Amino acid sequence: MINSKPRIITVANQKGGVGKTTTTINLATALAAIGEKVLIVDLDPQGNASTGLGIDRKDRLVSSYDVLTGEAGIDAAAMQTAVPGLSIVPSTLDLLGVEMEIAAAPDRVTRLRDALLQATGRTDTFSYVLIDCPPSLNLLTLNSMAAADSVLVPLQCEFFALEGLSQLLETVQQVRGSINPHLEIQGIVLTMYDGRNNLANQVVQDVRAHMGETVYETVIPRNVRVSEAPSYGKPAILYDLKCSGSQAYLQLASEVIRRERRLRAA
Ligand code: ADP
Ligand code: MG
Repeated sequence: MINSKPRIITVANQKGGVGKTTTTINLATALAAIGEKVLIVDLDPQGNASTGLGIDRKDRLVSSYDVLTGEAGIDAAAMQTAVPGLSIVPSTLDLLGVEMEIAAAPDRVTRLRDALLQATGRTDTFSYVLIDCPPSLNLLTLNSMAAADSVLVPLQCEFFALEGLSQLLETVQQVRGSINPHLEIQGIVLTMYDGRNNLANQVVQDVRAHMGETVYETVIPRNVRVSEAPSYGKPAILYDLKCSGSQAYLQLASEVIRRERRLRAA
């Protein structure tokens, strides 16, 4: 799409280990594979998205920290990855201190939004921006929600899957009521599903019963190839396209695109 604003999706859940980073990397790769120009913004100080895309720590010269502190723009921070059409604003451990550093600034919650507007308002560089959030509802996650069109929530298929979801949805409501009235829920994706596990089946049913159509039809299976891929610095989709996890992420991408078209039209 020429000269149109990118769709900005933040991948958020304050729980750690639910599949945020895995979803960000593989959804971004799937979107890039079908010709979208995609940017990931790594907002987690752990930098797992950056590492998982093969970006060496020593090469992260300009990072999301510099963007939030106003030291650099998105254009300067974005690095091309090995995936054609996929760039990333990497993160470094400096991000751990950024909340303190910008806490007193009046624009502390809109730093990322302003940076993205400056970078993308004038060009057609990116059609999608995916933001990988830290496991917290902190200022970093709030920055992502202020900047985003929609929130994509990964939920792990485990007993406490729904725990914490209401708090997350409340935060989305607060953001809608203040800095970003247009923020939508893109959807909820169930991750690390193990079909041999009765509990996992129960969780899928429960989450669908509670959250209805918000939940994507696609369920991401637990798949060892998906968990191996980051140690090779590759998205699962490049590491093993045929594995069940990669195939599920390709399917998720088409659902996400369908929903974005609907949200954009609304
Ligand atoms: P988060 O970003 O929410 O903390 P991650 O995406 O890092 O979660 O996932 C947590 C762990 O689970 C990682 O070790 C990751 O490789 C693994 N993992 C995520 N999704 C899958 C999957 N579908 N199958 C197997 N392992 C997975
Ligand atoms: Mg993560």
